Amino acid sequence: MSKLRFRVVETAFKKKPVEVAVPAERPSEYFAKYVFNKEKMFRYLPSKVYAKLTDVIDNGAPLDRSIADEVAAGMKKWATEMGVTHYTHWFHPLTEGTAEKHDAFVEHDGKGGMMEEFTGKLLVQQEPDASSFPNGGIRNTFEARGYSAWDPSSPAFIVDDTLCIPTIFIAYTGESLDYKAPLLKALRAVDKAAVDVCRYFNPEVKKVVAYLGWEQEYFLVDEGLYAARPDLLMTGRTLTGHDSAKNQQLEDHYFGAIPPRVAAFMKELEIEALKLGIPVKTRHNEVAPNQFELAPIFEECNLAVDHNMLIMSLMRKIARNHGFRVLLHEKPFKGINGSGKHNNWSLGTDTGVLLHAPGKLPEENLRFITFIVNTLMAVYRHNGLLKASISSATNAHRLGANEAPPAIISSFLGKQLSQVLEHIEESTKDDLISLSGKQGMKLDIPQIPELMIDNTDRNRTSPFAFTGNRFEFRAVGSEANCASAMIALNSALAEQLTEFKQDVDALIEKGEPKISAILDVIRQYIKICKPIHFDGNGYSDEWKAEAARRGLDCETSVPVIFDNYLKPESIEMFETTGVMTQKELEARNEVKWETYTKKIQIEARVLGDLVMNHIIPVATQYQTDLIDNVYKMKSLFPAEKAEKLSAKNLELIEEIADRTAFVKEHVDAMIEARKVANKIECERTKAIAYHDNIVPMMEEIRYHIDKLELIVDNQMWTLPKYRELLFIR
Ligand code: ADP
Ligand code: MG
Repeated sequence: MSKLRFRVVETAFKKKPVEVAVPAERPSEYFAKYVFNKEKMFRYLPSKVYAKLTDVIDNGAPLDRSIADEVAAGMKKWATEMGVTHYTHWFHPLTEGTAEKHDAFVEHDGKGGMMEEFTGKLLVQQEPDASSFPNGGIRNTFEARGYSAWDPSSPAFIVDDTLCIPTIFIAYTGESLDYKAPLLKALRAVDKAAVDVCRYFNPEVKKVVAYLGWEQEYFLVDEGLYAARPDLLMTGRTLTGHDSAKNQQLEDHYFGAIPPRVAAFMKELEIEALKLGIPVKTRHNEVAPNQFELAPIFEECNLAVDHNMLIMSLMRKIARNHGFRVLLHEKPFKGINGSGKHNNWSLGTDTGVLLHAPGKLPEENLRFITFIVNTLMAVYRHNGLLKASISSATNAHRLGANEAPPAIISSFLGKQLSQVLEHIEESTKDDLISLSGKQGMKLDIPQIPELMIDNTDRNRTSPFAFTGNRFEFRAVGSEANCASAMIALNSALAEQLTEFKQDVDALIEKGEPKISAILDVIRQYIKICKPIHFDGNGYSDEWKAEAARRGLDCETSVPVIFDNYLKPESIEMFETTGVMTQKELEARNEVKWETYTKKIQIEARVLGDLVMNHIIPVATQYQTDLIDNVYKMKSLFPAEKAEKLSAKNLELIEEIADRTAFVKEHVDAMIEARKVANKIECERTKAIAYHDNIVPMMEEIRYHIDKLELIVDNQMWTLPKYRELLFIR
């Protein structure tokens, strides 16, 4: 036993950084080398086809299937020149990962030989035999067919020998079975609604794009140590492990020097990401030991989501080249910071970012305020839903854990913006009317003074913070598909902007001048959505009480939080924006509850195994050594002296007996509780049973295991400890 332990830790120490081959070209030269981007489209497609395809990509024009054959031929030519032999439709089912099934380009040529083939039909649509993807009951076994369909707005790319074609994934009956289909619908809805509102200010606006810049946090762990932790291997987090004496209390890791082995990993990751067209820019150490962050330059939301999915799989792959495993779990280690994925979100038109305070131009300032206030309204009205969109069994460990945003959605605006909103709110109706004429516009719209909103004003405790030219949705989990949060946010805003336009138009119809009508509605909105605005300390207990008084969603049980998707106002919002139907929402919630249950179930099983195969045997072995010692003391010393000398060991023997008995009893009880929960038919009730009954038991068991870790001989303890997992790099 002791031998194995030393072997594991030693291999970790011996690892040297791998030399990373840096391409001879500069990043600007190899950027997007593996992407069928516009430059390649231009080279490989007939000019007419190129024009049509870029119209689809840039302007959302409908896809003309007649060009598919030529696009496929161009793609194939480029891909085969790059040494590619296979292709796959690449999609995001309702799991955390991506799905792909690789097919070779080869077909019979009819003359007994083979030829490379890739037709428009294969590009546009496929029918993956995908009956085992989560679908929440939408596809029963009779109608198990699902279609994957090409998304031309995200470019095809090459991974190894395979051409990957981003696709949506839908059921035979049309319901979405993935993240991308509703995301594209949400982006289209927000585009349309926002263009309509933008035209109050500039009739030329044709398109509004939602942007996303994610910041991916992660941990790296030595692969030898990882392999010796069944919990990391099976669940992505440590189910046991006592705090290490030193962890993050000295705050010496954040922005610290990047260890050489980690730097080598990052370098290779960045090179490969750039080749795949992911504009990675920032890397640094995070707060916790062995925790790091990677962020690209923001991109159009759909592309940014694809790039995040791609980078997560790239990270997993490249970490192995460096003897690491990457942990994307939101909370791999108890007691130190978890990992999030801040979603920096904004809207922009063909003329610039809409959430950027432009400064002197009054019309632009009013437009800025319009979008800020409507965003706040959307977040206020759907705060429970937004929380549901980022909730999962894994993210639950992070939220509210005094380092991540609390499990209550609120928005931080900072001093300047708060003052501007207060100013508008306090202005009287008469002020507003006096503004409406040309004179008022020239008078800089007194309600909206010259804006100089900077982003130095930061509040790390806010789940939805305004940071100068964007909102930062910080509650998103590190492992999550960003699409979930982006679907909820963009759809909610689409609904809100549509209603805003109706409210303003109603006033205009009554004869109120446009600017005055807009300000009037905004003033009302500022009052209504006030409860969502919170600039204080989100970690404090006072905030929890205050948020409840304000009527914000304060639920902390994840399975119950999911109910938000099925509230009448959520269903209405998703249906009116055309993003999802009630049937889809119901099915997706089934999947969410089922996934929740399965995750906890797996953790509980692994914990049971650890107790029976690691903890109890090792603790008992050590206890036996102690007992042996006590007996031998008796034969060496007179009874009274032996007893005195053995007092401490006797205490330890007893403590081990008590704690091992406790964990064994509780593992048995947990198995019984699972049996009861497993019999529950309703997925929601089952998930709640797992949340209410199993999760607390796991915590209790863990407590005693962690205490045992402190007293049992280090050489015997089979599981690598926190100090090793966190400090070996
Ligand atoms: P910080 O850690 O200070 O929040 P980072 O530089 O790590 O900042 O990440 C900020 C992210 O926000 C980057 O991905 C950046 O490209 C993105 N970002 C900046 N401006 C916008 C914007 N207007 N809309 C969306 N994302 C943005
Ligand atoms: Mg950030």
